[in-house]
Amino acid sequence: MSVFTHVDFDQHQHVVYGHDKASGLKAIIAIHNTNLGPALGGCRMWPYADEEAALRDVLRLSRGMTYKSAMANLPLGGGKAVIIGDPHTGKSTALFQAMGDFVESLGGRYITAADSGTGVAEMQIMAERTRHVAGANAREAIGGGQRSGDPSPATAYGVFCGIKVAVQQRLQREDLRGLKVAIQGVGQVGFTLARHLKEAGAELWVTDIVEANMRRAVNELGAIAVSATDIYGLDVDVFAPCAMGGIINRQVLEVLRAPIIAGAANNQLADASVAEELQLNNVLYAPDYVINAGGIIDIYYERSGGTTEQLKAHLDGIGDTLKQVFVQAQQQGRTTTAVADAIAVQRFSVR
Ligand code: NAD
Repeated sequence: MSVFTHVDFDQHQHVVYGHDKASGLKAIIAIHNTNLGPALGGCRMWPYADEEAALRDVLRLSRGMTYKSAMANLPLGGGKAVIIGDPHTGKSTALFQAMGDFVESLGGRYITAADSGTGVAEMQIMAERTRHVAGANAREAIGGGQRSGDPSPATAYGVFCGIKVAVQQRLQREDLRGLKVAIQGVGQVGFTLARHLKEAGAELWVTDIVEANMRRAVNELGAIAVSATDIYGLDVDVFAPCAMGGIINRQVLEVLRAPIIAGAANNQLADASVAEELQLNNVLYAPDYVINAGGIIDIYYERSGGTTEQLKAHLDGIGDTLKQVFVQAQQQGRTTTAVADAIAVQRFSVR
């Protein structure tokens, strides 16, 4: 297994393997690019089949963070960490203390945060060993109350701002009253997004593989529950993927009727060619890493100590960035993903 010749290497600046015999830690930290600032990205814990699978995941994810932070106008670079292990059975205080030591050893070039398989509790353990941890502190939440390091409310609000701009662009509509939205996955982000949409007057269709999550959206927001397969072909204005990646593929394109795709999930397109198909079909696609940047923006403000008003203004800016992407894509006849990628590369390539 090589790194420099790896298909996902893409000019990574730093790739480090960490091991601690006592706790059993096996982890990789990848730093893609730090031209705009220290690399910030989550620490994922996953039972990878082998080291190669872990390396591939960390390289792809860390590169994605460079693009996401650049498009979110943050003074941050892109990085990511993976711990090879089962998050249900393999967690211990010693493991995350060792991970904290590993993060600390990079001297602040990489700042870690919660991701799949890790949460606020693990960030708090790591924070015993390093200050280069985000999302370990409680503070005021968007919309009032205390937040506990969970960035999902900010992510949901950013997606809501993005949907408003997409609706203006594609449907020439200024308000969301009566807008029909299908949401795939009503977990942390999807449910909060559904609440924002409901408050703005939208009609909702939802699906979730966890029955209780779907019921909550039906009971609390009056959403209509549909099956996991029916969600794609509904006659709605917006399809909002908020569950998992890779779901927009050829089969989905055949049944999709929504003229807008705008949701929180990472890596929504099964492959790059899907973006061209969407353009041909006149479906406006909000590039995932642009519209779902609310989480990283929230984490940045938690670390930098910005006010809730500053955070909200920055989240509103997701809409402005998407508008720029949509307009350029239309003027230049390019896909929204190609335009977003080009803007991001231009930003992070400047030292
Ligand atoms: P979550 O786990 O809280 O919610 C995901 C929901 O999707 C769950 O309710 C789950 O049961 C459901 N689900 C999973 N597979 C499904 C399927 N096949 N069909 C229908 N529903 C399914 O996660 P989340 O934090 O809400 O994140 C949602 C997505 O947004 C993820 O792709 C995540 O990577 C992305 N994202 C999240 C954040 C954040 O701040 N939490 C930030 C950026 C991107």
